[in-house]
Amino acid sequence: MRAGSLRIFRIAGIDVYVHVSWLVIFGLLTWSLAVGYYPSLLPGLTAAQAWTLGAISSILLFASVLVHELAHSLVARTRGMQAASITLFLFGGISTLTGDAPRASTEFLIAIVGPLASFAIGAACFLLAAAVGDPRAAALFGYLALVNVLLGGFNLIPGFPLDGGRVLRAVVWQLTGSMRRGLEVAVGAGQLVGYGFMVWGVLQVLQGSAFNGIWIAVIGWFLQGAGAAQLRQVRSEERLTGVSVRDVMRPDTSAIEPNASVEDLVERYLVPGNRRAVPVVAGDRLVGMVTLGDIQAIAPQARVSTRVVDVMGGRSGVTTVGPETPLASALEAMLAGDFEQLPVLEDGRLIGVLSRADIIRQIQLREALHLK
Ligand SMILES: [Zn+2]
Repeated sequence: MRAGSLRIFRIAGIDVYVHVSWLVIFGLLTWSLAVGYYPSLLPGLTAAQAWTLGAISSILLFASVLVHELAHSLVARTRGMQAASITLFLFGGISTLTGDAPRASTEFLIAIVGPLASFAIGAACFLLAAAVGDPRAAALFGYLALVNVLLGGFNLIPGFPLDGGRVLRAVVWQLTGSMRRGLEVAVGAGQLVGYGFMVWGVLQVLQGSAFNGIWIAVIGWFLQGAGAAQLRQVRSEERLTGVSVRDVMRPDTSAIEPNASVEDLVERYLVPGNRRAVPVVAGDRLVGMVTLGDIQAIAPQARVSTRVVDVMGGRSGVTTVGPETPLASALEAMLAGDFEQLPVLEDGRLIGVLSRADIIRQIQLREALHLK
């Protein structure tokens, strides 16, 4: 989810990103509240007041979604998982958690706490709406109470990847002892719900509610697609059982110095080696990875005067794997950090590079040979 997202701040050690699609929704929502919802609720409202209420509501809805996602992330963290980032996008948010929940009960807790947070916010806003005297403030809190209850309720629909689907996965996992079985059931339910939304959306369009209908159908399309990708990933990872990083990595120990020029990197490492990334080593210490992506923005004539250390990624800490790391875990680390390559270290020494392309080739090979 990192592509097309802007990092806006960091909270409790978790990076918060906003997907560009969210900015569009922010505008649409503010507009529809300012010209439709609030003026019909409060007839005496001036345009300036309506737009202010609309914008405040959108910002507070954004904060509500953030609290919902933080609840997932913080509970996951107390259960020993890592919570790296939260991305707020078109339909709400996604918490990027690494490390699979070790037990069904943990999975259940992490999933349920998000909707519970939304319901709690909804209840608090409902009480505030009843308590405040100003009708505009009451309308604002009333709106927030409504959307938070809807947000919690929508997320409880029992189809993966929604929270309710995760709850379903945890329940089936608990009953059958198989996490994959749980996921299959939850993804199946999610696809059913997704198709249901698509049919509902089309019916709405036919009945003349084009905007709502398209909106519902898009959500359905997203739901039926998202779970399938997750299931593919789990099945791919299963094919990697028993395979470790050493089996797939390239035992290439060539590395570049931090002070070398980008020109050197291109002419002596990337092109002759047919590589997309090179580890950066100072003395015998790995200090980063420099990738094609890092240097693409540099004009060819500026390559001579640009040092590798100034463009390489991982300056605040490099993610590495060991030769005995299970390949499935390495893949997960790559997906979580959006890395294309990881350096492989043994006793602190660079012994090779593992690329996502190599892992994918291994999965395809195993599929073709019907291994596992
Ligand atoms: Zn959630």
